[in-house]
Amino acid sequence: MDNKILLSNNSLKQNGFKVKTFKNVLETKEALMKSISINESVAFGGSMTLEELGLYEDLKNRGNKVYWHWKVEDKKAELQKALNADIYLTSTNALTLDGKLINMDGTGNRVSSLLYGHKRVYVVVGRNKICKDYDQARERIKNVAAPMNTKRLNTDTPCRFTGKCNDCDSPERICNVEVIIHKNPSGTEINVFIIDEDLGY
Ligand code: SF4
Repeated sequence: MDNKILLSNNSLKQNGFKVKTFKNVLETKEALMKSISINESVAFGGSMTLEELGLYEDLKNRGNKVYWHWKVEDKKAELQKALNADIYLTSTNALTLDGKLINMDGTGNRVSSLLYGHKRVYVVVGRNKICKDYDQARERIKNVAAPMNTKRLNTDTPCRFTGKCNDCDSPERICNVEVIIHKNPSGTEINVFIIDEDLGY
C-alpha cells in the first residue's frame, strides 16, 4: 500500500478519527454497506468520489432513506432534509500526512455536516487527495480541485477558464468557507475510509 496512506492512517488515528484503509473501490463499498444499517437514513455531501462509487444507488436500492441534492430537482428542500439524516457521507478536498482534513465549500452544507449533527460521518478519500501539509493541500484545493469543479458546474469564475485561482469576487465563487479538522470533534464520530486508488478531485 502507498506509503502516504500508511502515514496519514497513523496520524488520523492519533488525532482521534476512526480509520480504515482499502485496496480498491469494491472493498470500500462492501465495508460501507455493512457499516450502515438498512434502518439508518443517509445524506450525501457533494462529491465526485461518492458519485464514482455509486453508493447512492446501492443504498437506495437496498431500501435506505437517502438524501442527495445532486440527484433531485428541489436542491434546497433536499439540503434541509439532509440535516436530520443519521449518517453523513462525503469526501474531503485534502488529507494531510499529519492527519488533518481540509475542506473548502461554497454553500457550507458539507463542512457543517462534517462537524456536527449526525450519528456518524464517513469520509471516503482516494490516495490522490493525500497532501504533504497544509500548503500543499491549499494548492491542490485552489489550483486543481476548484478549477475542475467550476468547469463541471459551469460557474462564472476565473479558475474555470485559467485553471488557477485568483481569489475572485464572483457571486458564483465556490471557495467561501474553509474548515480544517485538526482532531475528531467531540460531538461527532468521523470515520475516514482511505482507498488505494485515485478518485474524485
Ligand atoms: S476563489 Fe474564485 S477563482 Fe479562486 S478557486 Fe475559488 S472560485 Fe476559483
